[in-house]
Amino acid sequence: MSKRDYYDVLGVPRDADDDVLKKSYRRLAMKLHPDRNPGDAAAEEKFKEANEAYEVLTDPQKRAVYDQHGHDGLSRSGGGGAGAGGFSDIFGDVFADIFGGRGGGGGRAGPRRGADLRFMMDLDLEQAAAGTEETIRIPSWSSCESCDGHGTADGKRPGTCPSCHGSGQVRVQQGFFVMQQTCPACRGRGTVITDPCKPCRGAGKVQKEKTLSVKIPAGVDTGDRIRLSGEGELGEKGAGAGDLYVQINVRPHDFFDRDGNDLHCTIPVDMTTAALGGEIEAPTLLGAVTLKIPEGTQTGKTFRLRGRGVKSVRGAGQGDLLCQVRVETPRNLGRRQRELLQQLRDSMDGRGATHSPETASWLDKAKQFLEAHLKP
Ligand SMILES: [Zn+2]
Ligand SMILES: [Zn+2]
Repeated sequence: MSKRDYYDVLGVPRDADDDVLKKSYRRLAMKLHPDRNPGDAAAEEKFKEANEAYEVLTDPQKRAVYDQHGHDGLSRSGGGGAGAGGFSDIFGDVFADIFGGRGGGGGRAGPRRGADLRFMMDLDLEQAAAGTEETIRIPSWSSCESCDGHGTADGKRPGTCPSCHGSGQVRVQQGFFVMQQTCPACRGRGTVITDPCKPCRGAGKVQKEKTLSVKIPAGVDTGDRIRLSGEGELGEKGAGAGDLYVQINVRPHDFFDRDGNDLHCTIPVDMTTAALGGEIEAPTLLGAVTLKIPEGTQTGKTFRLRGRGVKSVRGAGQGDLLCQVRVETPRNLGRRQRELLQQLRDSMDGRGATHSPETASWLDKAKQFLEAHLKP
């Protein structure tokens, strides 16, 4: 299976900074999110691909490894962790992080740190803006009670590996060279279990499910991650647990498009209100506000409501709400209404430059163009 380049997946240059990565990821996540593409396996596959690329490129360590060695480097440095095919395939579930463990390094592997887990959390814009506390259930491992976590049938420490005498490394002769290699018999652990514990089949841990309460700070956005230290997979005896990363995805909203901390919305305004001026109710995340529409308001006019956007998740600051007006031409007119509009048109006859200056000047230019270029 050949994997696509992470930079290509996100469509960013190789020197992209976190801001650029986040923007691109957010755009992809919006487009490919399974909620928007129900039953579309290809979209879901791409969504996961984007997630993985984003995760690697926003982690300085993983990104450095990837830049130097590509996909191979990552799967090697990951060590055991969740092992091959580590990603769980159900969206909304917890993904075991295939890059689990930190650093990697050579030498004796020793007890392995638990793999990191990623939990994809979908939030509504309202929840993301206000902050929330969510309960999640995640698969978790706990130390096996029968063997006290050692993985042996008698519950004692596993014996020293006879192949490497506990060093985790063996020497291999290759032509003139003597190479150090991770011991294949114990996979670098330095110990072997000859008689494995039955309940955990030698793993030293058993799977359960745990419930966690996660505090989501106000202002989070798609691509933000909350790290719960030590809530990932249990490590081997003597090694720490991995971390749990809760990755936020904000669902598309009916009214508002989010751009950083600003919100955008389009507000249709009827033609007479746009012409005469008036007041309309505009929705905000904290309820309706009254928006004054001045006389002669045109389609495309944007009103900025300061401080009605989303609070910044990083300390101070609050975004604005930008309402863009779209003037709606009346439809389904009755006879009387048509007459009134006809009268209005008559009253404006010959006064285009005053009442519809854009139309008048455009008509002038069009006329000049036709005369200058299309003369017979
Ligand atoms: Zn056991
Ligand atoms: Zn060994």
